[in-house]
Amino acid sequence: MASSEVLIPSNKKVRPHPTQNEALLFEKSSPGKRAYKLPPLDVPAVNAAALLGAAHRKTPGELPELSEIEIIRHFTRLSTWNYAIDLGMYPLGSCTMKYNPRVNELVARIEGLAEAHPYRPDSLAQGILEVIDLLQRCLIEITGMDAITLQPAAGAHGEFTGILLVRAWHESQGNPRKKILIPDSAHGTNPASAAICGYTVETLKSNAEGGIDLDALTRQVDEETAALMLTNPSTIGVFESQIAKIAEILHAKGALLYMDGANMNALVGKARPGDFGVDVMHLNLHKTFSTPHGGGGPGSGPVACKAFLEPFLPTPVLVQNENGAKGWNYDRPQSIGRVRAFYGNVGMFIRALAYILANGPDGLRQTTEDAVLNANYIRAKLEDFYDLPYRTPSMHEVVFSDKRQAVKGVKTGDIAKRLIDYGFHPYTVSFPMIVHGALMIEPTESESLEELDLFIDAMQAIAREVDETPELVKTAPHSTRVSRLDEVQAARKPILRWRPTK
Ligand SMILES: *Cc1c(COP(=O)(O)O)cnc(C)c1O
Repeated sequence: MASSEVLIPSNKKVRPHPTQNEALLFEKSSPGKRAYKLPPLDVPAVNAAALLGAAHRKTPGELPELSEIEIIRHFTRLSTWNYAIDLGMYPLGSCTMKYNPRVNELVARIEGLAEAHPYRPDSLAQGILEVIDLLQRCLIEITGMDAITLQPAAGAHGEFTGILLVRAWHESQGNPRKKILIPDSAHGTNPASAAICGYTVETLKSNAEGGIDLDALTRQVDEETAALMLTNPSTIGVFESQIAKIAEILHAKGALLYMDGANMNALVGKARPGDFGVDVMHLNLHKTFSTPHGGGGPGSGPVACKAFLEPFLPTPVLVQNENGAKGWNYDRPQSIGRVRAFYGNVGMFIRALAYILANGPDGLRQTTEDAVLNANYIRAKLEDFYDLPYRTPSMHEVVFSDKRQAVKGVKTGDIAKRLIDYGFHPYTVSFPMIVHGALMIEPTESESLEELDLFIDAMQAIAREVDETPELVKTAPHSTRVSRLDEVQAARKPILRWRPTK
């Protein structure tokens, strides 16, 4: 691994390689440069001040002045400093960073779908309404639930919507109840969503297998428990084999079972939450159903529920009249109301539906099997090198700990940084919290055997480096434009936009 000092000639007159050049990229502005050239005005000038009134800006904004090619190079260069699923494996556990198939993009760009305006009357929007209806029916079938809303814009937003449904239903029974139970392995959004909906959060300790301790659950669930929020498979990638019993314990006390469906990539086509007692759940289309993720979003977090929760779903809901025409129904007196403008991130619905239809039932089942197989292949190849805190069978992801490396002073974060030098995006670091020094690895079905082997080679090589040259790992990455950043400072004092130098 050559360092950038070696790669870049020291003679300042030699221009550094474009992908490495960080020299004052944001400070290239020079007065008068323009990225466009317009012919002189040959019509009467509009009085902008009169036209815009108070919105008219008296002094021009201080923007960088650059030529078109400088701007294009700036953004193209920035794009090369990032890692993407289109460059290689992205094993970020719990995030299901699968490939975004190009057929999705092709379908999403069909003019009639891409240009459908939300204010178009229902009578002129039958095509896009059919897409929405078909996706709803596919997701209802996949989850085994009775009804669905596609409005929520992400998983966390789906949790919020789902818990509002729980609250509205309890209220209709005369008492909204006070608390939500959440296992200690849960994603941080779960307690946040419960709290935003006005509930207190009570933590459930996991048992030795990383699952729900049934005795603890029986002790903790009472007449003030609104619901249990459960991720299944859990965030350590383990299927909750007692799930039906858990639902029974909750229902006996009038409490509901909410399932965080972020890990549905391990279940699609194999098991349906609606069949194992779940009352309400969310899906992450940007995880399980291959729509773009993170900075490439926007996301989509549909919420599916059993029939008794249907009256509370956000307005509007899609209905069909007796002639078969589809339209939106706003007349829903028990609804929790809107949770998002218009109908949700419709572009993501089109992509998710394209993915579902392109794969078909057998393809989706195969996807699940491949995702689980890939995770277990990695587990088998790495368990001699890294500590495996839970021996319970893995589903679509596997969680190791840094216990063996920590004795050499090397932490999970160091190993993740070293992985960057080997050309991979890091796995998820230090999550879930129940595993000290967690390395959470989710390969997804997208990866070939060759790519998995490269990843395994890298992880094994790093384990050997920890034994032989731990400093090398502790100071990684060595191949990137910048090495270790002050992550606390970046979170506390982010610089999110260009500012003119005074
Ligand atoms: C990703 C994830 C969420 C949150 O989903 P967002 O779309 O990021 O809001 C919730 N729970 C689990 C287990 C997740 O992996």
